[in-house]
Amino acid sequence: MNVRLDKKDLARYPFLKEAQGFVLSMDIPLDSLIRADTAAGQRIIHTGTDRLIRALSFGKGGGETDLDTPDDEILGYAMARLIVSCLGDRSMMDRLARYEAGRAVWFLETEEDDIRRYIAESLGLDPDADDMEVVRYIELASGLRDDRWRLINRDVRKGRVSVRTEELDALIHERIRGVIRGQLPLQVPGGICLKLREHIDRVSAVFQQQMLEEFGDIDESAFPPCMQALIAAITAGTNIPHTGRFALTAFLHTIGMETTRIVEVYTRAPDFDVSKTLYQVEHISGRGGTEYTPPGCATLRTYGLCVNRNADCETVQHPLTYYKRRKKREQGKKDN
Ligand code: SF4
Repeated sequence: MNVRLDKKDLARYPFLKEAQGFVLSMDIPLDSLIRADTAAGQRIIHTGTDRLIRALSFGKGGGETDLDTPDDEILGYAMARLIVSCLGDRSMMDRLARYEAGRAVWFLETEEDDIRRYIAESLGLDPDADDMEVVRYIELASGLRDDRWRLINRDVRKGRVSVRTEELDALIHERIRGVIRGQLPLQVPGGICLKLREHIDRVSAVFQQQMLEEFGDIDESAFPPCMQALIAAITAGTNIPHTGRFALTAFLHTIGMETTRIVEVYTRAPDFDVSKTLYQVEHISGRGGTEYTPPGCATLRTYGLCVNRNADCETVQHPLTYYKRRKKREQGKKDN
C-alpha cells in the first residue's frame, strides 16, 4: 500500500520503521543528542523524560503530544527508550510500551482510513480480515484481561479465530505494545547512561513515589486469603512448597515490603536458613536482573494455593488486585 507519511504522522507513530529511518537521516550523533548544554539537547532530553514520566503515571498520551514540533516528539521517543534502557527496570519498560501503544491507538481512532490500514499492515495485521490464526490471536490477546478475549469464549474454526472490526484497535494496541516492548532494553553504552544520570534519577524517583502511592504502607489486614494462609502456615511452623514461597515472596516484594522484612516472615519456618532465604528473596526481588511478579489466581489455583476464597475473590483475577481494592476500601473507611 502506497501511503506518504509526513513528519506529523511519524510523531504520532514513532515506532514505525519510517520514523527510525527519519532519525537516522538526521544524522545526529548520539553524543550530541544527550548534550544538555545545548538548547536542542535540553529540549530532547526533557521531551523524552516527560514522556517517560507520563508513561509511569498512566498518562493518556495522545492529547499531551505537541505536533507542532514533530522532530522533538520523534527524538523524544528515542530519548525515552534510551533512558528506560539505562534504568533497566522491566516494569518501567512495560509501562512505556503500554503508554506508547495507548497513545498510538488514541491517534488511530480519528485517523483517515488509508493511514489506519497502513499502520495495521505495517504491524503485520490485515485490517479487512474477520479472523486470524489461533497462534497469532493468542499472542495478541493474552495481555487482554476481559473474559471475552479468552479463547474459550471465541468462535474458532479451522484454526482461525473470528475477530470483529470494532475489536481491531484493541489488537493493534497489543501488537504495538509487543513490538515496542520486544525492542527494549536497547544496548546503550555505559558512558551515555552516565551522562543521562540526572534525568534517569528523576524518572526513577517518580517511579518510586508512584509505587509507594499505589501500594502505600503495608496493610496486612488487606492481604488476600491465599497470602494470609501462606503466612499463617509459615508462622505455625509448617513447611510450605517452593511454589508457595515463590508466590508469597513475589507478592510481598511487589507491594513494597523490604527484603529484610520478607526474610523475617520466614524465620519461623522449620527449615529456616538465613543465608539461603536471603538469597532466594533477593533473587525473586530482582537482584539477579529479573524481577518476578506474583502469579495470578488461575496459576495459584493450579498450585493448590487458592484457599479460603471469599466474596472479594469472585471479582479478581490477581492477588495484587485483591490487595489494592481491599486496602483502598479499608482506607476509605478510616477516612470517613
Ligand atoms: S481467588 Fe485469588 S486472591 Fe482469592 S484466594 Fe484465590 S488466589 Fe488468592
